[in-house]
Order: sequence, then structure tokens, then C-alpha cells
Amino acid sequence: MRDYKQLEMFKEVTHQEWNDYHWQLNHRITTIGQVKEIIPLSEDEEKGLISCLGKFKMAITPYYASLIDPNDPYCPIRKQAVPDVRELESFKGDMEDPLNEDGDSPVPCIVHRYPDRVLFLIFNQCSMYCRHCTRRRMVGHEETVINRTQIDEGIAYIKSNPKVRDVLLSGGEPLLLNDGDLEYIIKGLRNIPHVEIIRIGTRVPVVLPQRITDDLIKMLQKYQPIWVNTQFNHPKEITSYSKEACEKIVDGGIPLGNQSVLLRDVNDCVYIMRELLTELVKIRVRPYYLYQCDVAKGINHFRTSVAKGIEIIEGLRGHISGFCVPTYIVDTPNGGGKIPIQPNYVLSENDNKLILRNYEGKLFTYTLPQERGTSCHCKKCYSKEVLGVEKMLLE
Ligand code: SF4
Repeated sequence: MRDYKQLEMFKEVTHQEWNDYHWQLNHRITTIGQVKEIIPLSEDEEKGLISCLGKFKMAITPYYASLIDPNDPYCPIRKQAVPDVRELESFKGDMEDPLNEDGDSPVPCIVHRYPDRVLFLIFNQCSMYCRHCTRRRMVGHEETVINRTQIDEGIAYIKSNPKVRDVLLSGGEPLLLNDGDLEYIIKGLRNIPHVEIIRIGTRVPVVLPQRITDDLIKMLQKYQPIWVNTQFNHPKEITSYSKEACEKIVDGGIPLGNQSVLLRDVNDCVYIMRELLTELVKIRVRPYYLYQCDVAKGINHFRTSVAKGIEIIEGLRGHISGFCVPTYIVDTPNGGGKIPIQPNYVLSENDNKLILRNYEGKLFTYTLPQERGTSCHCKKCYSKEVLGVEKMLLE
């Protein structure tokens, strides 16, 4: 497990200050001068940075900055945190809102795409602005700040839609809200009888682990079931600090999953991925998704081919425990939703058998049963409508 190095610029900082998330937020690295104190920049890199900052926001927590290797221009932490001039390039097919979240938004802050769940964007600021962010159209901007009226409208929308059983709180960074404001939202949702699950998507365990305080966990525990998903992208992000934050969440009885993004020159390598995933389960984080990088404007240089993602999954399945292997997802442009992709293990099929390929490339035959009809007698399958469909399929 890696650990942070005290940065020269923060050498006077006390242990207590370093462990205080307010201190971390108030001392974020936001200027070129500060970046130059951490890593050497060539003249071109500096010019690029100046141009980028004219358009996109930068903020790096001192903790996350301390993980940057100043001697490695390819450092995966640096690539996720420090702007790159390529963010200003645009390519055919790039989109401002690749997942059409705005199009699926019935009221501000709510994205309602799937029938039984909604995305509730409750805060538009982040502790660290990830260079690969797919929501850069809205995060960090003054004009998209979310107010209490919009939050109340979001809660009212969910209340008026009895089919919504699962609410995902996201942003921005939802855990940048103070405990009181966060509790206001969670309590409001918990008071809605049809909301069964509340999920939180957060990057703080990775970039600001100090935010996972005992008080926060105690507050969340009052509103179970709560699920949390975070975003570790590289094994370098697993430190004694992030381990402690993750363990606090899990010890609080809150299941914790991880959704990595496949990023060119950061983690598009089967060996890095294997290390990341096996290290994650050691700190009790369950790998959930591996996302293909979206077609958002300004992040084209992070995108890999889909073949690369399939190759990585191929190198994971069978080689490490099954529960370490995430589902590889392409979140389709224009709001098509998440589509799982995996290597093809079924080589051929006829009426009697399947020919399957295992992780070593060896072939195996699976004999199919003679009787294929279902005899499920659950109430739904037995309903007239489903029996009708089944009859149709058998003809
Ligand atoms: S924490 Fe999430 S919303 Fe914020 S910049 Fe990173 S990816 Fe974007």
C-alpha cells in the first residue's frame, strides 16, 4: 500500500490540520504557481495549463496532490488532477452532455431515465476536479449552483412518482454538503414510503478521505439502507488514508462499491487493473463497474478503444476471484443507458449443445437439457399475460 509524502509547501502543517477536511478544502491547489511547487512544468506545459484554466476549473486537495510523483511525467495521479492542453481540443462526435442527462431531466437536478430509479444531482462543486469528468458542463460553475428550492422540487418529484424505489445522490460531489444539509435531503427521501434504497456516488474516499468522519457515518446510519459507490482508478490511490475512510463506511454497515473509469495511460493495462481490483477487495471495496470513458468534450485524450476494455476483462476473468471482476459498461451516447460488454465465451450453439471457451482458451461442451419449457409458478409468470407470451415463444 502506498502512502502520501508531506509536500514541501505544507511542511509546517500539523497532523490535526492535515486530517481536517475543512483544512484540506481551504488549501486546495488552484493556481499555476502552486502546481509548479509540486511538479516541474515545461514551458509548453505551463502555457497549456494557462489556456486550460481559462476554460476549466482546477482544484486539487493537498492530500491528493501529495500522491503525485513529481519525477514521473506519466504519474496516474497527475494525469487525473492536473489540466492538459488537450482538454481544449474538440473532435467529431464529442458532446457537451454525452449521456443526454439534460434531456432526461423532468425537473432541475433530477435525471429520470430508468423506470424505478432516479439520479438526484444535489451539489455541483467537487473537492478535486477530475480531468476526465463527464459532467464538466455543470460541475464547478457558479451559474449551475443548486439551491434549496431545486432540492425541494427534486424531493417532490420523487414523492409524486411511486415507481421510484432507488435514488442515487450524485453531483458534483454530494459529500461536500455539510452533514446538516445532506441529512435534510436524505431524511426527506427516507420519509417517502416508496423510496427503498438511497445510494451515494462519491469520490471523497479517494481524493478527500478526511471527509469520511465518524459524525457523517453516524448520520447516514440513521437512514439505512444506504449504499455508497466510489471511484478508485489506480492502485496508487489506495493509501492508509483511503483505507481508513473505506473501512469506516463498511464498518458503519454501508456496502461500498467501486466504479472505475477506463482511462488511457492511467489504467488501460491488465496488470494495473488486476492490482487495483485485488487491492480494493483487501480494503473491503467491491468492484462494481468499469466504465468506458464517455464521449464528453475535452476528454477525448482519455478514451481507449472498446477492444482494449474487452482485452482487460479477458485478462481478469478467471485470473482473479470472480467477485473482483467489475462489469465493463458502455454508457451509450444520447441517453441509451448502460450496456454491459464482455468477451465472447460462447463459440457456437445448436439445439443440443454449446461450445464454450474458458479463460485459458480451452474449449468445452455443455449439453443442453431436453426439456426447455419453464414451469415457474410464481404469481407473475402464471398470470394470463405472461402465459400468453410463453405460449407464443413455444410456437
Ligand atoms: S468527482 Fe465526479 S463529478 Fe466531480 S469532477 Fe470528479 S468525476 Fe466529475
